[in-house]
Amino acid sequence: MAKTNKKAEEQPVQPVQPVRKTGLFEYAPAPESPAAAGDIATSYGHFIGGEFVDSSGSEALKTVNPATEQVLAEFAQGTEQDVDRAVAAARKAFTDWSALPGSERAKYLFRIARIMQERSRELAVLESIDNGKPIRESRDFDVPTAISYFFYYAGWADKLDYAGYGANPRPLGVAGQVIPWNFPLMMLAWKIAPALATGNTVVLKPAETTPLTALRFAEICRQAGLPKGVVNIVTGDGRTGAALTAHPDVNKVAFTGSTPVGRSIAKQIAGTRKKLSLELGGKAANIVFDDAPIDQAVEGIVNGIFFNQGHVCCAGSRLLVQESIQDELLDALKRRMGTLRLGDPLDKNTDIGAINSAAQLARITELTAIGEAEGAERWAPECELPGAGYWFRPTLFTGVSQAHRIARDEVFGPVLSVLTFRTPTEAVEKANNTPFGLSAGVWTEKGSRILWMANQLKAGVVWANTFNKFDPTSPFGGYKESGYGREGGRHGLEAYLDV
Ligand code: NAD
Repeated sequence: MAKTNKKAEEQPVQPVQPVRKTGLFEYAPAPESPAAAGDIATSYGHFIGGEFVDSSGSEALKTVNPATEQVLAEFAQGTEQDVDRAVAAARKAFTDWSALPGSERAKYLFRIARIMQERSRELAVLESIDNGKPIRESRDFDVPTAISYFFYYAGWADKLDYAGYGANPRPLGVAGQVIPWNFPLMMLAWKIAPALATGNTVVLKPAETTPLTALRFAEICRQAGLPKGVVNIVTGDGRTGAALTAHPDVNKVAFTGSTPVGRSIAKQIAGTRKKLSLELGGKAANIVFDDAPIDQAVEGIVNGIFFNQGHVCCAGSRLLVQESIQDELLDALKRRMGTLRLGDPLDKNTDIGAINSAAQLARITELTAIGEAEGAERWAPECELPGAGYWFRPTLFTGVSQAHRIARDEVFGPVLSVLTFRTPTEAVEKANNTPFGLSAGVWTEKGSRILWMANQLKAGVVWANTFNKFDPTSPFGGYKESGYGREGGRHGLEAYLDV
């Protein structure tokens, strides 16, 4: 049986040595302290009804630091009974929570946001240790962005009458939320903040390779004095997720993850009265025209595909470059890729951290091998990889055709496929030639072309002369096999309201 929050006797995290890359500058290591992550328990149970409780089952899973392969903690594999208990706690809490005036709910959300700010270093280090992402990203992107969603939706809680959904829009009830491992805390914030602001209560299941920040968030809920049962966290793998989404007393299912699982959830709840939003995979085109400022575009391409090791649903994984500037752009891109620093996620100089899991590394390795076998040309800068942990060099493929698997399948890793085009129409045709439709990028000096392209591209988000920018005021979501429903902004309220 999983034991609840036993304190680890010693901090299990060991920093890895950063891998030095040949670049313009040599940097001394600037490691963040793993101790800043705070106490990591040897084993965790669930957070149900405001308490950390043991699982009804005996199965435990392990989460490892992907940069060292060291076990960080054990956590419970949630059973159907555990899910049932969590849903019952959320149902019980719903009566009072939904009856609170919005201004009172807002106070809790503001309090949670402020505590997260106070504990931001702890959350950032914990996220990097559990996920493998560079501390620069968890510190400067994941944690502040997660916090901004709580602040933003706190602001909506007492203004729902003016959100455009009629007077006094009603919450749905209990939300069952399942999230992936690529932005664990940020995905939690995208799900929990709008649900609570609108008066729903939640049961959230974090991904099985990254449960630690969700469990730490449970502590923050207690610190904020959030009423018991408003937020419940049940850990486990897909079986626990399936038990949650199938639960008959869940009114709303919100899922972020892969397209096959999203499809199975859509089938599972078809014919029920549950409301569903799905944020699934992507294969975004990042389109560079010949009038784009090359250096700026190169930075956008690098950010588009190598941010978070490419574990990004909206990653710019297909570079579409206008044929006339292909050579110049690729030279500049390769030079820039040669300066990326891969290694210890806790080193503040690191650009590319560890791949999240052995399974994901195997998938990236398999898809890139298929890319070579299908005739594309592979290039990656020389760099030494650490001995332990899961690593993959930033990689690009040229000579890619639209039929190649690496141009069609979501690799979900630091792998860029390069295709070319001659005219804007050809760029649009190639960009839209995918079953996905989550995001796209356009790089050009011409404003009219940006507007024209944005209208033509079948993608939920189109970035112009930038990429991977997120803001809580802006809706995010996909078309086609990238899912449906929107998170963020005023639109994100609708997913949690009975409208
Ligand atoms: P995944 O679908 O395997 O898992 C996602 C979550 O679903 C995990 O918590 C998992 O335990 C759970 N799960 C697995 N099977 C389930 C089932 N049958 N029923 C209910 N829950 C189940 O995906 P992943 O590999 O963890 O994440 C990567 C995928 O997520 C990528 O395809 C990526 O594009 C997508 N993603 C999308 C977005 C977005 O906003 N659109 C954001 C992040 C990730």
